Amino acid sequence: AKVILEVNRLQKFFEISRNQTLQAVNDVSFQISQGETFGLVGESGCGKSTIGRTILGLYDKTAGEVLYDGKDIHALKENEKFQLHRKMQMIFQDPYASLNPRSTVQEIISEPMEVHHIYRHKQEIKERVYQLLEEVGLQREHANRYPHEFSGGQRQRIGIARALALEPDFIIADEPISALDVSVQAQVVNLLKEIQSEKGLTFLFIAHDLSMVKQISDRIGVMYLGNLVELTQADVLYESPLHPYTKALLSAIPIPDPVVEEKRERIILQGELPSPISPPSGCVFRTRCPRAMNICEQQKPSFREIEPEHYVACHLYQ
Ligand code: SF4
Ligand code: MG
Repeated sequence: AKVILEVNRLQKFFEISRNQTLQAVNDVSFQISQGETFGLVGESGCGKSTIGRTILGLYDKTAGEVLYDGKDIHALKENEKFQLHRKMQMIFQDPYASLNPRSTVQEIISEPMEVHHIYRHKQEIKERVYQLLEEVGLQREHANRYPHEFSGGQRQRIGIARALALEPDFIIADEPISALDVSVQAQVVNLLKEIQSEKGLTFLFIAHDLSMVKQISDRIGVMYLGNLVELTQADVLYESPLHPYTKALLSAIPIPDPVVEEKRERIILQGELPSPISPPSGCVFRTRCPRAMNICEQQKPSFREIEPEHYVACHLYQ
C-alpha cells in the first residue's frame, strides 16, 4: 500500500523558561500506509499526544518533517491547512471534556460541516447527522439530547460521529478508550475497526498500554520519554519483543489463564519516569532498565532495523 504519512526525524521541544527545555518528542521517525492502523504506545507524558498534534499541524515542529500525501504539513498556508483538516480528524481521550455540554448532539456533530460549508440546507445537515448517528450505533432520536444524558461509551461514539462528519481519510485517535470501562473498551475498538474496514480509513491509534492495541493495530511503535524505542508488526511485537521497555510493558498485561500467569516472568520497572526536561544521558530508558550496561549511559542507541521490519533502539542489539 501507498505510504500516506511520513514522520521523519520529528522533534518537538517546548521552551519552559530561559534555561529549561521540555524534550517532548525527540528524533521520531515512522511511516503509515493507506488503510493501515498504526498503534503508538507509551506511558503518559512520553510524547504520544504531542506527536498527534504536531502531525495535524496544531503544533509547530522544532525539527524534522511531517509529510501527508507528500505534502509538508508545516509548510502549508493557513487555508491549505484548513482544507487538509477535512481529510485528517482527531478523536480525543476524554469525550466528557471534548464535547460542549451546552450543545445538542445535533449541533456537536454538524459543527465541522458548518465550519467547512459542506451542506447548504438545514435539512441536509440533519439527515447527515442521523446517518452518522446510525453509523456509530446510536439512534436519530439522540440528536436532540445533550452530552450529559449519555454514558461514557456513547459519548465516545458521538465524538467518533463528529470525526466522521467530513468523511476524513486519516484519523488520529488519542487514547479513545482510556477513559472508558473495560467492558465498553472492546465495543468502541470494534466500532473503530468496522468503520475503518468499511471506509478504508487510515488510523493512528494512541494508547498508554499494550492491552487493547493489538486488537486494532497492524504495526505498533513503542515510545519512552519522547523517543521511539521499538517498532514492528503487532503480532511480532507481542510474540517476540526485543526492547527491555516493551518486555516490561507486555509483562504488565494480565493473562486470563492462571497457569500461564503463574509461570510468567514479571518485570517490575524500578524508579520513576524521568522528566523530559532533564532526560538521562545515553539511552533514555537506562535509569529503569534491568539490562543497563556502561555504554548505555555514554551513548544513545540508534533506532535500527534489527530484523526485517523490526526496529529497536537498544545497545543489546547493536
Ligand atoms: Fe537498557 Fe541499555 Fe538497551 Fe537502553 S540501551 S534499553 S539501558 S540495555
Ligand atoms: Mg496524552
